[in-house]
Amino acid sequence: MPEISETTLEIDLNALDHNYKQITSGLKKGTRVLGVVKAGGYGSDAVEIARELESLGVDYLAVAYVAEGTELRGAGIKTPILVLHPQPGNFGALIEQCLEPALYSQRILKAFIAKAEEKEQKEYPVHLKFNTGLNRLGFRENDTEWIMGQLANTSSIRIKSLFSHLAASDDPNEKEFTLEQINTFKSISEDLSDRLGYMPILHQSNTSAILNYPEAEFDMVRTGIGLYGYSNEKQYDSKLKPVHTLKSVISQIHRIEPGETVGYNRGYMATGNEVTATIPIGHADGIPRALGKGKGHVLINGAKAPIAGNVCMDMLMVNITGIDCKEGDEVVIYGSVQRASELAKSANTISYELLTALSHRIKRVVCRK
Ligand SMILES: *Cc1c(COP(=O)(O)O)cnc(C)c1O
Repeated sequence: MPEISETTLEIDLNALDHNYKQITSGLKKGTRVLGVVKAGGYGSDAVEIARELESLGVDYLAVAYVAEGTELRGAGIKTPILVLHPQPGNFGALIEQCLEPALYSQRILKAFIAKAEEKEQKEYPVHLKFNTGLNRLGFRENDTEWIMGQLANTSSIRIKSLFSHLAASDDPNEKEFTLEQINTFKSISEDLSDRLGYMPILHQSNTSAILNYPEAEFDMVRTGIGLYGYSNEKQYDSKLKPVHTLKSVISQIHRIEPGETVGYNRGYMATGNEVTATIPIGHADGIPRALGKGKGHVLINGAKAPIAGNVCMDMLMVNITGIDCKEGDEVVIYGSVQRASELAKSANTISYELLTALSHRIKRVVCRK
């Protein structure tokens, strides 16, 4: 990689290829793969990730909102796109962009049928989402009768898939609950498929379920975090490669004396003659304030430099006492050595939150390492 001169997120497409192959290598022959690229490809670059997944032969993509799908279509992405959480106000745009809605309640299903009829659609592909215990979005098992009634009165939509989402597929302590969710989904999908008279695609697994619950594989799996190099399993993470590497530079170095303080509210006080470096990245860029006061560190020339005092909006200061470095030197916030999951832990959060919080103003550079 060329030297960087500002805060930069490197997006490694070879790591994505590797993770895609790794995550899908254990699937049954014929199981389809849906790649989740919501939230800007988990904070990276949704278009670049979608293009690469398309070239890898992914069967489906998923985003959370219609605007995210519109961006992908605008960039020429042709793969079917499932919109996980559409709102009725965007159904017109959704149909115009050939995006496929997840319909999750009576209100949403009715509104979509009305829009599809208004736009004179025939058998528009839709996906029915069932709540099997997450209690977030989804129909209940006892909605199937009502759903069949609605379908009997229209030819504007066709059920492309039935799906559900697991609440705790990464938590071995919740095995019993998860198996119950899987059984509930099985029973709902068997019942509905029977009544429909055709077989929609069935899917319930996210990344952790792919690894922990082969019984939830069904016809398709939805992988998000795993594609980006994180699995929620420390053991398995070593088989994956982080797509995101977040780097910055040293803007200024300060030599401070005992008793001098650093940053807002004097969050750090030097106990001896110390050296600090100011880095142009802050909480507005997605670095949690919770990492301040030594909770988190960055890497400078391979050495750990703890965050000194409070993280500011646009910058943070680190203690570089004893580290051989100079202004302009590269700083690694996370990547393949210190993984985002480890830094997340120091802030009492998870890799997902750290990655997706990366602000738009951070420069993105696509690479193949
Ligand atoms: C975000 C999301 C996923 C992806 O989950 P990962 O844990 O990132 O693999 C899958 N399904 C649904 C419904 C989601 O909202």
